[in-house]
Amino acid sequence: MLKLLKTHFGFDQFRPLQEEIIRCLLGKRDVLALMPTGGGKSLCYQLPALMLPGLTLVISPLISLMKDQVDALKANGISAAFINSSLSRGEIAAIQKDALQGKTKILYAAPERLSLSEFQAFLQKVKVSLIAIDESHCISEWGHDFRPDYLNLKTLREIFPETPVMALTATATEQVREDIVQQLGLDRGKTFISSFNRPNLSYTVLPKKDSYGQLLEILREHRDDSAIIYCLSRKDTENLAADLRTEGFKALPYHAGLESEERRINQEKFIRDEVQIIAATIAFGMGIDKPDVRLVIHYHLPKSVEGYYQETGRAGRDGIPSRCILFYSSADAGKQQFFIKQIEDDLERKNAFRKLDQMVEYCELATCRRHYLLSYFGEDYREESCGGCDICLSPLVEFDATIISQKIMSAVIRTGQRFGMNYVLDVLLGSKNKYIFERSHHQLSVYGIVDDFSKDDLRRITGQLLSRNLLEKSGDEFPVLALTESGMSFLKERQEIRLPRPGSTARLAAPEAADDEYDRALFEKLRLRRKQLADAQGLPPFVVFGDLALRQMALYLPQSEENFARISGVGEQKLKQYGKVFMEIIETYAQENNLPEKTIPVKRSDRSRRVKREGSTYQETKILLLRKMSLEDMAAARGLVIGTILTHIEKLAAAGEDLDIGYLRPPAEKFARITAAFQQSGGTALIPVKEMLGEEFSFEELRIARLFL
Ligand code: ADP
Ligand code: ZN
Repeated sequence: MLKLLKTHFGFDQFRPLQEEIIRCLLGKRDVLALMPTGGGKSLCYQLPALMLPGLTLVISPLISLMKDQVDALKANGISAAFINSSLSRGEIAAIQKDALQGKTKILYAAPERLSLSEFQAFLQKVKVSLIAIDESHCISEWGHDFRPDYLNLKTLREIFPETPVMALTATATEQVREDIVQQLGLDRGKTFISSFNRPNLSYTVLPKKDSYGQLLEILREHRDDSAIIYCLSRKDTENLAADLRTEGFKALPYHAGLESEERRINQEKFIRDEVQIIAATIAFGMGIDKPDVRLVIHYHLPKSVEGYYQETGRAGRDGIPSRCILFYSSADAGKQQFFIKQIEDDLERKNAFRKLDQMVEYCELATCRRHYLLSYFGEDYREESCGGCDICLSPLVEFDATIISQKIMSAVIRTGQRFGMNYVLDVLLGSKNKYIFERSHHQLSVYGIVDDFSKDDLRRITGQLLSRNLLEKSGDEFPVLALTESGMSFLKERQEIRLPRPGSTARLAAPEAADDEYDRALFEKLRLRRKQLADAQGLPPFVVFGDLALRQMALYLPQSEENFARISGVGEQKLKQYGKVFMEIIETYAQENNLPEKTIPVKRSDRSRRVKREGSTYQETKILLLRKMSLEDMAAARGLVIGTILTHIEKLAAAGEDLDIGYLRPPAEKFARITAAFQQSGGTALIPVKEMLGEEFSFEELRIARLFL
């Protein structure tokens, strides 16, 4: 199995559960596989397909994806085909003929095919050894994506009672899971559930202040990377894409209201790396399988944690560090509440409120975001720090919150434990809200007694009191605050409490910079060549080689077939087809720059080890810092760009490393001007400050100064 894995897919190791699932299928048992997006589900049927006689039939609802999947298999030297409504009768007949002659190993078909008698007759004649059902949650009416066509799948069981079935999905609650098992008759099979943690994704929530400026800054940092920006409305996507184009970005909108042809073209351009940014409504995503999306930004508040997890899941399928960033303001939550109030169905409305409330909770967390996401899906994540969310990455500054907590809790009591957070905070802040006056709450001793915290801050502190079980919330639509027993004793016994300072955590979680030492200039050359080769064959670039493969090439500079074959994603077919072309580029570059070829470790570390290994790249930078080298010299010594060195320094500082970087500090006069500009901007974003200061200051100087500030 390992040999086939390397020969056909170019990988050295299985990902978690892949091997177990494959063994189960080869033992003729059914499988239900629940793995997150990017977990490597497809390989679980593609590899056994090569080992089994006959055909593997794959049912997939996404016609737009079939071609890409088949192209990717062919590029790996595996005979695959698809049948769907985009093909002519003649084409379909030819594909079926090939399959009947045993020339095809993997055949993709859409579920609606199964109801056609012609197709059924074809299936009766062909030898099917394995059936894979992609997006299998579509069979459940409980799921969010029910497709009646999926009910046809039951007939497969009748036609092929002996053939093992593998059902795949990335989303399934327990109810949906049971439904899949029952509907597909998988009761004798085995269910595999992998962790939903995506270690290569980092999560950040940014306050929605100057969000456009912040967005530009982030996008500039990710110049050539693919990014999806989710917006609330169709209009927003169009406006944002247009604005970004005037800033010099390649950006297009995507939403359900576009002509289907325009939608197709925009999607195609994104997949082919002709456009880096798609501003989309949540309609975008189901039909794309681009492995190298580095950035998923939510420009508005998602409606539920499930939805958010799904959308962010589209980042970094290839395992390379990628960022998920959400812009949040409590006003956004208010806007959505307004819409939810219009829902007429009682149950549905309550549900929507509850889901939104959870989403708000996520945004206002003062504890690990990954932990929250995973426990939302019932997973117990125990790492002290996830190392990849803004909360875990920023040093927590605590403050004595005893008095403010007492004030909040007293206000809850004085108003009779009958009101929601918003109202209670309004009372504390002395709001002129007429309901407060109608109820004479302006005469309470707690009215207007807070003037040292903003409402957003108070919201976060109250969130902390809730998560520490001093306060509790009840009711869905209009959750009411009340004191718990421990809250009562907290007040009575005059206990003290320390909480994270609100606002101290709004930092951008940088992606874990694994394999960061690769040569950027060479990578660009390889990337360009990849695009040319892909265009010539009408393929998406990632089908030729993934980013990970290119990064490894630019790191190890392989110049012999033997070494080149060790790159992740290089199997026999790709070695034969592309090896020479890429090695030529590498060789020329290595000679021009006098760089040595490096040995590629045969067993590559898995994802989690890779993250840990990273300490070393920072430690190397730290050693250079100890020698008091200039930024330029450090960059040259390490073969990195200055920006990366700065990122290392920022990370080291954030991790609380004791650094002596005083020698890098800009001269006093400049430093004073930068300080003033940051103060005026009221944030930590670079762009607004750069705009104030102009050409005289470099981004590097600003970043350095920011560290001291
Ligand atoms: P899913 O269908 O679960 O979203 P895919 O099957 O598309 O995930 O796989 C995601 C990515 O992981 C693909 O780029 C695939 O080539 C890669 N991959 C799958 N298995 C392995 C493996 N054993 N080693 C390295 N990469 C793998
Ligand atoms: Zn975390």
